[in-house]
Amino acid sequence: MKKEVIIIGNGIAGVTLAVLLQRKNIPFVLLYREEEKLPFALGETLPPSAMSLLNELELLSLFEENAYRKTYGYHSMWGSSRVTDMNFYHQNPYKNGLKINKHQTLEKLRETIKDNMVSYRKGFEIIHEEHGNTVVLAKNEGVKIIQGKILIDATGRNRAVLQKLKIESVIHDELVAVSCHIPKIKHPKLTHEVYVESFKDGWGIVSALSETENICTIFTNKGNEILAKLKDISQWKSTLAETVYLKDFLTENTEAKIKGGNANSSVANQLAGTNWLALGDAAMSFDPLSSHGITNAMYTSAKALEAIEKKLNFADVEAFPEYDSTMKIIFQQYLQSKNRLYQQEIRWKDVEFWERFF
Ligand SMILES: Cc1cc2nc3c(=O)[nH]c(=O)nc-3n(C[C@H](O)[C@H](O)[C@H](O)COP(=O)(O)OP(=O)(O)OC[C@H]3O[C@@H](n4cnc5c(N)ncnc54)[C@H](O)[C@@H]3O)c2cc1C
Repeated sequence: MKKEVIIIGNGIAGVTLAVLLQRKNIPFVLLYREEEKLPFALGETLPPSAMSLLNELELLSLFEENAYRKTYGYHSMWGSSRVTDMNFYHQNPYKNGLKINKHQTLEKLRETIKDNMVSYRKGFEIIHEEHGNTVVLAKNEGVKIIQGKILIDATGRNRAVLQKLKIESVIHDELVAVSCHIPKIKHPKLTHEVYVESFKDGWGIVSALSETENICTIFTNKGNEILAKLKDISQWKSTLAETVYLKDFLTENTEAKIKGGNANSSVANQLAGTNWLALGDAAMSFDPLSSHGITNAMYTSAKALEAIEKKLNFADVEAFPEYDSTMKIIFQQYLQSKNRLYQQEIRWKDVEFWERFF
């Protein structure tokens, strides 16, 4: 199989780039790993600022149609024990964000590119040929050989392509997340269905996924002693007993499924090479406090498309290095604003989780 672009990774970043390439009639293949399990819904929230990007990419209506719902603001208790009401009414031009159903949105997007998707079960290998092309071997019972001019890493925090290319990353912190789906409770003191609260060992967010279900995620640092307790849903309420409102959402229902993982900020040392680019979380991964992971995935895909067009149509050798330097600048700006957010919380500045921000 010969294509111009080989994308590896089936998440928002890889699939968005595939959709954009298809619109431009640039031949591509999206190579993905066969997964047996349904993904655990994280219930990501997109801020109003992301709506403009979705609109520019002509994907806004698809995202809206497949979202759990629109969001019009959130409550937070951060920096003091006062609840702040962040209402999107004053945002322009969009006065709402979205609580996305990522799985459903991705399925809709994948339908449009399904003829150019190839799965594998047993790994892949990358071979660089002397004449500049990249050959990827997708391994199943046999091996499928795919040749392309440009290789894309869209494998999220796994950075599977970057690892094979021996590109390392800088990890800026040790944030980890533990999530669980719990029965929906409407808090009597909160009107918005997204609530964020900081506490001594980290912070948590509760938001409504549906009419019957909430998702609660607790963020703390790797090695924090609360992590062992959060493995058991029956201990969540007691572990978070000192929180003001978070604890009210929790149940001791032992049926709830728990999912943990990394949520740290990290950036690849190189986001582009002569014939490859990294997108989304593979390029740079953001702290979920920023609510910008999905926006980053979409934005890097849009910028990657521009760079790919310049390279393929005009043999522009600067396009990929420019992509690399633009994204690194964005990441530095993101790091500064993220750190400022954490520095607003001074109540526990001498405690393990918070002290690293001061
Ligand atoms: C707890 C939590 C809450 C979050 N909340 C928000 C939020 O509110 N708002 C927001 O905008 N963002 C949020 N994010 C971040 C957001 O989910 C990610 O930034 C976004 O999904 C990244 O998209 P991606 O396509 O780059 O990577 P991913 O979604 O990770 O997709 C990568 C794809 O590559 C595949 N893959 C991995 N390894 C390989 C391999 N070896 N071979 C082939 N395929 C591979 C994976 O199966 C997956 O399909 C949150 C993240 C976490 C952890």
